[in-house]
Amino acid sequence: MGFFSKDIKTMDDLFVHTLQDIYYAEKQIEKALPDMVKKATNPELKRGFETHLQQTKGHIQRVEQVFKMHGREPKQVNCPAIDGILEEANDIAGDVADKRTLDAALIAAAQAVEHYEITRYGTLVAWAKQLGRADCASVLTENLREEEATDQKLTKLAESKVNAAAA
Ligand code: FE
Ligand code: FE
Repeated sequence: MGFFSKDIKTMDDLFVHTLQDIYYAEKQIEKALPDMVKKATNPELKRGFETHLQQTKGHIQRVEQVFKMHGREPKQVNCPAIDGILEEANDIAGDVADKRTLDAALIAAAQAVEHYEITRYGTLVAWAKQLGRADCASVLTENLREEEATDQKLTKLAESKVNAAAA
């Protein structure tokens, strides 16, 4: 089912559909991160990916919690956007031979993932509030803050060390 399906009639349907989209995305990210841990050379980057893998498991639990709070069973819906981002990450990582350049490529790929999550959680928080679900919004905000913090850490690591090492 695409993002704009005719099965979506109300704002509430749209909220649940987007929750299913991010649920699928988080599960795909959980599967992809161990490979990024393995490929990273810079120890700080490796640790960062490991930390984010643990955080991602927490994101999945929070999304499941929001489904329950909203009276729905956790369900995934295919998200071609995250599939494409992860596929591209995989392709580029396969094409980069130099280890230090690979670190720069991994950061760029990871930031594309974080930005996808940030846009989805930002929307979900706004819609939850609109639907009178401040409780759901506050749980989703916890995920949003961790994605934002991860994105900022990656920027810092790229600009302070990894890009210079690759260049
Ligand atoms: Fe996440
Ligand atoms: Fe993330």
